[in-house]
Amino acid sequence: TPAVRQHQERLAAEGIDVVRVTYPDLIGTDRARDVLLDQLPTACEHGLAFCRAVYHTSPQGDVVPVAGGLDAGLPDIHVRPDLDTLVALPWEPGVATCLGETVDPATGAPAPESPRDLLRSVLARCAEQGLRPVVGPELEYFLCDADPASPSGWKRYSGATGAVYTAGLRADPDNHLLRTLRHLRDLRIGVTGGNHEFDGGQFEINLAHSEALSAADRSFRFKAAVKELARKEGRLATFMARPFNDAGGSGFHLHLSCDDERGRNTFDDPAGRHGLSDTARHAIAGVLAHAPALAALANPTVNSYKRFGPDTLAPWLIDWGLDNRSAMVRVPPERGSGARLELRLGDAGANPYLLIAGTIAAALLGVRAGEEPPAPLEGYGYDTARSAVLPMDLSAALDALEADTALTEILGKAFTTSYLTYKRDEVARFQRHVTDWEFTEYAYHL
Ligand code: GLU
Ligand code: MG
Ligand code: MG
Repeated sequence: TPAVRQHQERLAAEGIDVVRVTYPDLIGTDRARDVLLDQLPTACEHGLAFCRAVYHTSPQGDVVPVAGGLDAGLPDIHVRPDLDTLVALPWEPGVATCLGETVDPATGAPAPESPRDLLRSVLARCAEQGLRPVVGPELEYFLCDADPASPSGWKRYSGATGAVYTAGLRADPDNHLLRTLRHLRDLRIGVTGGNHEFDGGQFEINLAHSEALSAADRSFRFKAAVKELARKEGRLATFMARPFNDAGGSGFHLHLSCDDERGRNTFDDPAGRHGLSDTARHAIAGVLAHAPALAALANPTVNSYKRFGPDTLAPWLIDWGLDNRSAMVRVPPERGSGARLELRLGDAGANPYLLIAGTIAAALLGVRAGEEPPAPLEGYGYDTARSAVLPMDLSAALDALEADTALTEILGKAFTTSYLTYKRDEVARFQRHVTDWEFTEYAYHL
């Protein structure tokens, strides 16, 4: 089409000869193919064929038995470049990148397990209520240096202890953060800033708030970019929930509010309790009511549950509070257009599309039901006598997701079935695996 040809000519004029088409798979990993610029019109017309089984392949390389994959003889899935998302890759001259839409070649419809389409369908439900969710993501991660002496092959980039929010070279001797921030700005991720986090080698970067699909797209591209930039330097950036025994975990906090159709923040109400509207309080109640099921998406790995615990600043109990970082849902002090909640449940390993879709779906259910949240947490949390506890492992969270029929009705049967199958297979593989801890604990005494 003329539009594709226009993009092609503009890219050629910018010295670009390859387009990297990237899409998120079920677990949020970036899958990509590099397409020569002269092939772009063909790719847009027919889509790029990927193996659907690869779409469901775990990082360990096992093909996971999701319906429509292995059982169907490893068929194709088609990925169509979304040229509205084209941007030059700042650190790879001659390469531009765009997101891809996954399409089922048999029907031409979105692939049922496509995380991007799942989020779109949840947003369509919100639109029916006149609500347009606004999302601001904050992601933490660890940077690692190669270490041949360590069994994993990696060690934390900086051993600096007590490196809380330390800017400059003291905890970041190689200026990793400055370089990364500038590249992310040029990639148009919409980053606002970053800081060194509590633990040595741990960083946090904040993304500007926006409508939810853009926030998810930018979070997805952010994680892939940070990992790729680290790799270019021989390093590893990991968003896994809790990579080290001697350090805390990495969170994926989500700031959430809802605009009405005229762009006014529906969470603000100076006359409402705590300065919050009914909509805001109902949304909080919905998130808390569906938190056990939401954990399956927000905390999607067997490792996720090792981030929780007393004094971690990662929630462990199902509660909310006014400007209280020990609560699962924190309501930051701003009101007016900045009235919002901060969900601190998710870990950085979560698929951004699923975390955002699940959180919005839970909030929407609260709004629909007109639920009121319990009294806000006062003081420091982590008191099991006061608040309900999350499912404490992935298996229990998956059961909670399956049991939450209100939430799975919004997420859809096809997605829920694929997700539960994939993740239960992951749990089963973990349960059969003998860990170092077991050997150390038992081998000498038993
Ligand atoms: N690292 C903590 C978490 O896993 C959050 C620390 C903070 O509040 O920045 O959620
Ligand atoms: Mg932080
Ligand atoms: Mg935060």
